[in-house]
Amino acid sequence: MFRLLIAIPAAISLFSQSLPIDSNRLRAHIRFLSSDLLEGRAPGTRGGDLTEQYLASAFEAAGAKVQMQAVPLVGVSMEPGSKISIDSRELTWRTEVFVTIASQQKSASLTGSFVFAGYGLQEVYANSDVRGKIVVLLAGNAPGQAASAASRPATKLKEAAQLGAAGVLILSKMIAPNAGREQLQLQLKPDAPALSFSGTITETAAQKLGWVVADLTAKAAAPGFQPVSLPGMAQVELKAALRTMSAHNVIATVAGSDPLVESEQILYSAHWDHLGMSSTGEDRIFNGAVDNATGCAALIEVARAWAALEPKPKRSAVFIATTGEESGLLGATYYAANPVFPLQQVKLGLNLDGLAPGPKPTGFFALGPANTDAWPLLEEGARRLSVPLRPDPKPELGYLFRADHFALMNAGVPAYSLLPLDEAGQFSATYMSSRYHKANDEYSPDWDMTSNETMSRLAFTIGISAASRP
Ligand SMILES: [Zn+2]
Repeated sequence: MFRLLIAIPAAISLFSQSLPIDSNRLRAHIRFLSSDLLEGRAPGTRGGDLTEQYLASAFEAAGAKVQMQAVPLVGVSMEPGSKISIDSRELTWRTEVFVTIASQQKSASLTGSFVFAGYGLQEVYANSDVRGKIVVLLAGNAPGQAASAASRPATKLKEAAQLGAAGVLILSKMIAPNAGREQLQLQLKPDAPALSFSGTITETAAQKLGWVVADLTAKAAAPGFQPVSLPGMAQVELKAALRTMSAHNVIATVAGSDPLVESEQILYSAHWDHLGMSSTGEDRIFNGAVDNATGCAALIEVARAWAALEPKPKRSAVFIATTGEESGLLGATYYAANPVFPLQQVKLGLNLDGLAPGPKPTGFFALGPANTDAWPLLEEGARRLSVPLRPDPKPELGYLFRADHFALMNAGVPAYSLLPLDEAGQFSATYMSSRYHKANDEYSPDWDMTSNETMSRLAFTIGISAASRP
């Protein structure tokens, strides 16, 4: 029946009207997943464990087969007594400097000199030796340069670690207000190169040390820039409490119907984790309703719609609710390195993260590689649901590198995050400034779920095309 419908253009609008995705079910998942009871869904907490169990049960009830992938994480909380002094002057902790132990040890104690390496790009280091030194970097990318994978903090830290640097300090206007919260890291393999620490130093503190930030910024943007040493010698004494935990990627599958291509997959993902709770404030719970109860709800309902198809599409569908996204795409990165099903067999990855509620979106955009043979499927889905596919409205923000699809894209999978455009802007206009990563990212029964229903249908339709094509 299904194949017959998609083969007849006249039936297309009927098809999209009757797609089995129900906004009341989406709403029900969002209401529970963003409730105070789940305490902000931090990995390795009671609320996080409850979230995993809810997702596993919901996928099972939807008709998918569930397995849990343990993701080994270490929570690092910096303890009092941690300090960095430069030429015997102690920097003010959390005002001028804040770093986290990156070696997953309880303490770090070292003395080191500084080297400024601009934006920390691989090619900059070619003729210099940063072993045992503290590398000072600028955040982001040079003015006029497009955001890239190399401008991600994780890439910069990894690069410096591989070169044997002792630590990394990134220059910044201020220390992030949430610095000091427990930081989650993927457990290091015993022989992996690791920094002792990484963190932030403010530009004001840097100026006091005689590091002229404007000059350094100009130098870093000049062609042929090479690392330069900076004055001062650091004494670093750090202490941390470590919490080893196992959070899970919740993986659900619906097998394909054609033995010849059943091993090929359409891979859907949405992160389930959020920021947990803060230690102070009136509302301490980061509910993460939009970010990302909405994506999880869509994931479950796409799985239900898929499992209900008879016959099933030729290829299989895999639904992964990932952990640790808020700490740097940890669950997705772990999956890309330890895939349960071969990554070369993934024909298309679709990630859902931050689906704002509202009326039918005026369009959508897809973060991911445009030059793949999967791209036309996105265009086809756009036509079918009459939701135009548009360019990323703000590429300079680098969202392309900041959602779970990136971890898969980095591993060679044609993977995309699908996001709604809402030009009327009722919700999204204020969401980023007033709710994103704040305690008031909360669900309200007044939410119009039309946008969420449309985006779920879109993800379903695109996936089915990919799973059914010759
Ligand atoms: Zn998110």
